[in-house]
Amino acid sequence: MKPLTLRTKLTLFYSIIVSVLLTGFALIYYHELSAGLDRDLTQEVRDRTSGLRGYLHFDEGMFVLMYDQNDSDEVSFINKAARYYEIYELSTGMAVGVSEELRAMGVVYSPEDVRRYAQVPPFLIDLNTDQGQLRIWNEVVQAEGNSYLLSVGASMQQMEDTVNSFLEALAWLIPSGVLLAGIASWFMAGKALQPVAALGHAARGIAVSNLHRRLPLRGTNDELDNLAGEFNQTLARLEKAVGEMKQFTASISHELRTPLAVLRGEAEVALMQSNSPDQYRRVLASQLEEFEKLSRMINQLLTLARAESGEVAIAHESIDISSMAQSLAEQLEPVAASKDVRLSWNCEPNVTVDGDSSWIERIVLNLVDNAIKFTSPGGHVTLRVSRNPRSTNGAILEVSDDGIGIASDALPHIFERFYRADPSRSNRADGAGLGLSLVKWAVDQHHGTVDVESVPGEGSRFFVRFPA
Ligand code: ADP
Repeated sequence: MKPLTLRTKLTLFYSIIVSVLLTGFALIYYHELSAGLDRDLTQEVRDRTSGLRGYLHFDEGMFVLMYDQNDSDEVSFINKAARYYEIYELSTGMAVGVSEELRAMGVVYSPEDVRRYAQVPPFLIDLNTDQGQLRIWNEVVQAEGNSYLLSVGASMQQMEDTVNSFLEALAWLIPSGVLLAGIASWFMAGKALQPVAALGHAARGIAVSNLHRRLPLRGTNDELDNLAGEFNQTLARLEKAVGEMKQFTASISHELRTPLAVLRGEAEVALMQSNSPDQYRRVLASQLEEFEKLSRMINQLLTLARAESGEVAIAHESIDISSMAQSLAEQLEPVAASKDVRLSWNCEPNVTVDGDSSWIERIVLNLVDNAIKFTSPGGHVTLRVSRNPRSTNGAILEVSDDGIGIASDALPHIFERFYRADPSRSNRADGAGLGLSLVKWAVDQHHGTVDVESVPGEGSRFFVRFPA
């Protein structure tokens, strides 16, 4: 089945609410109306009974009504009240006064009924007759030293007519109310959803090629405007991410093209000349170096891509970073010495961090490797590990050098992919500008921070703070 549209759902929802409300109000009103009419009728028969008592007089064994025929109030009361009355002598149970109407309707109590009714306090009976229902009030009265049962009634027809016409009115009022509410809510829902359709239309037109486009804001500051604003912010983030991706792809192509061109050039030159085996060996050795750098770069790229796509799981184990840093420094010392750089270390014992040993190793290696790389012969690189004084259990890893330093305008960018602060001074073939991106990613994964201080010409100092 086709799912209902939001507009239809809203219309149905409002119509159901309106019908429930209307029916609820109608039921309450119906209940109040019939109870009120019922109460009024009961009061009416009681009033008629007490009023009539004053006009009934015993005359020659029968009760007759005596009133002033010239008094219009009395006449009108008697016409109403005396329409349905009867009076019975209790000792015999026989009727001693019956109105014409009741006699014609054949509503007469048997002597047994009369005696039985005399035993109970004044009471009401609703009687069904050929001419509709009657409500009758019965009470015992005293006259001429005797007891009589006086019964006075009123027709219930008017009450029933009123209730019936109310029900008839409801029978068309409720459906028309619901229909009106349905039509109104259909239009209102359509109007309210119009901006959503417009947003959908605008959103459909947005593709990777035109991510700079934005959804129109109506300036109403309502939920839909906020939604469009949120969507625009998402678009801005997407635009930035896609821009970075494009930049990344362009950088990769560029980074690959240069060493490939070098390799190709070398091969072409070697092929054009007739070289001695020694010269060929030199060309091949130089190419091998180039291949190694290329494969290192591709490995770094792969690692970064895997890391950023969330494929890499970070282990959480307690690592003695002091002994790890010390053993790495011992391994790197000959590398530094080969470039006439002095590498020293100062590791406070038993400093531990919670993390992944291979990634922490990579952080130390990258930072020390950079420090050696960007320090001139005769320079000095220091590796320090200490406990974080601001937390009970964290660690600080510090790598400082007295090398070329980093210009202040380059500092904010050195953790970006493919960024090299000063390619003319740093040996381009030595790195692709990916090492610090990996360091930053790994530090983030350990919930740590990495900071750098540097003065061009004097040296740089990298701090990595690991939390407890
Ligand atoms: P690279 O492969 O070029 O070393 P990195 O991402 O590791 O790439 O570093 C990015 C850039 O930051 C380097 O090219 C260099 O310009 C600068 N840099 C990093 N470490 C140092 C340092 N210790 N001294 C001076 N410059 C540095």
